[in-house]
Amino acid sequence: MPATPAWPPSSLPRLYVEQPLAQDALLMLDGQQANYLGAVLRLAPGAQVKLFDDRTGEWLSEIVETGKKRITLRIAAHLGEREAVPDLWLLFAPIKRGRIDWIAEKASELGIARLVPVLTRRTIVDRVNTERLRAHMIEAAEQCERTALPEMAEPLKLEQLLRDWPADRVLLFADEMGGAPLTSVAEPGPAAILIGPEGGFTDEERAAIRAVPQAKPVALGPRILRADTAAVAAVSLWMAVAGDWSRAPRSRKQTAGE
Ligand code: SAH
Repeated sequence: MPATPAWPPSSLPRLYVEQPLAQDALLMLDGQQANYLGAVLRLAPGAQVKLFDDRTGEWLSEIVETGKKRITLRIAAHLGEREAVPDLWLLFAPIKRGRIDWIAEKASELGIARLVPVLTRRTIVDRVNTERLRAHMIEAAEQCERTALPEMAEPLKLEQLLRDWPADRVLLFADEMGGAPLTSVAEPGPAAILIGPEGGFTDEERAAIRAVPQAKPVALGPRILRADTAAVAAVSLWMAVAGDWSRAPRSRKQTAGE
């Protein structure tokens, strides 16, 4: 039985919009999004665009009017609910700017629920542009077909994070000084992965993290990984073992019986 092509074609442009979406609603887009659809993609009335709002799921829309600075779309069909993403937080000590943008983009693609910048003793960055990181996560969510955006948390000092640690959440502490293989402790349920800065954690920080009852030191192999490599490796392992990587992408599900 040949698979019928997925409808709508997954090649349609896909955008996150702040406005809540509903059947037959009219949506006005301006600014960068209007420019992308109108000037970059040069879409005309009748063209279809997938939209999601991080609340009501994903919708198929149709352009009804294009203008220099504004595009009007009509919401035509509901394509699916907002998905539940695995309850995994990524806590990372901000490193160089270019690399944290990359971490934010990869963490969104890999399926995290929340991104938390953690300020540690050896963190060389003292301020984090969370708006820029959120924009990278949104762009990644548009591309990878998430319908739920990761939350972007405000930077937190390590001491404060540990003091207020939620009792029901496992804290998988990536410790280059050693720990259990991550795959042996990863299990479904509220979890967080903590990655240190290039300079690593201080001995006092390491002791304070290990003192948290929910903390589990985990190893990521025998080599010292860069913080960004460690973040992507740890999240990927967790997603494969305890996350939702046994599911197929929504827009590429084969027809029944495939
Ligand atoms: N400056 C340290 C390395 C820091 S690497 C040193 O030279 O020893 C940055 C972060 O990546 C670490 O804090 C840790 O969270 C993580 N990491 C890197 N390699 C790791 C490994 N093999 N096992 C567990 N965590 C690792």
